[in-house]
Amino acid sequence: VRAGSESGLKVDLQRLPATATLEELLQLVERLNASDEHDGILVQAPLPSAMGRAASQRVFDTIDPAKDVDGFHPANVGRLVQGRAHLAPCTPSGVIEMLDRSGIAIARTHAVVIGRSEIVGKPMAMLLLHRDATVTVCHSKTPDLPSVARQADILVAAIGRAGFVTTDFVKPGATVVDVGINRVTDAAQATSLFGAGSQRVADLQKRGSIVVGDVHPAVAEIAGALTPVPGGVGPLTIAVLLKNTLAAAEARAALR
Ligand code: NAD
Repeated sequence: VRAGSESGLKVDLQRLPATATLEELLQLVERLNASDEHDGILVQAPLPSAMGRAASQRVFDTIDPAKDVDGFHPANVGRLVQGRAHLAPCTPSGVIEMLDRSGIAIARTHAVVIGRSEIVGKPMAMLLLHRDATVTVCHSKTPDLPSVARQADILVAAIGRAGFVTTDFVKPGATVVDVGINRVTDAAQATSLFGAGSQRVADLQKRGSIVVGDVHPAVAEIAGALTPVPGGVGPLTIAVLLKNTLAAAEARAALR
């Protein structure tokens, strides 16, 4: 809401109570689909578990593909797979933008993506593939994950486990993109990651929690480049969301 308002978009935050039903949410989405005032719709996941396991997919299926600024509607996913995305998922699009702006080549590299979610892992793999990387996608059932990850010139971690990617996973000089956003509240865990007496442990003691990526801090010593958490991929995701909203608005305006 803040980033949208600051960049001059009109932001309409619709809050439903935690007790709202899936039908109520779908009705809201339908109303926003029909509204001429709204160019983009983002439904913040995860949804309350009482809505059921398939709720997110029902919601993404219902959003008008032309207003789907998250890029999760099956029509937009299909276009992404075919290499002609109009609205592609924000986090992986931001990663590509970051690699480009950092002058890091993607074509002809071996990229390894850890995580196969619909939101990050799978679209990330597609975007890298379309940029001529050779892509390996790893997940929780991948045998000997560190040795696969060590082949990567570009390693993307989108797992959801604090400090999971240790130096064993990283070829010296590799570019490491840390997508993870994990809230750590345990001082012992923070100490094992950052060391006793570190600033991050002091921050946790002061605030009660800190945000930690999926990549262990020691990776900074061997990686060629590493995105920080917080402050790396997270803000980029927001920036791409604004960019997608503008693209959706322009495409709709062109049809008028
Ligand atoms: P998810 O839980 O949907 O998917 C996690 C993936 O990691 C799964 O595909 C799973 O197979 C894999 N995985 C889990 N445990 C594993 C293990 N032990 N070994 C190998 N693979 C394993 O999560 P998500 O939505 O893709 O998010 C991943 C992380 O990225 C989270 O920390 C999330 O908060 C963060 N995230 C950040 C942004 C951002 O803006 N920076 C956006 C979306 C998600």
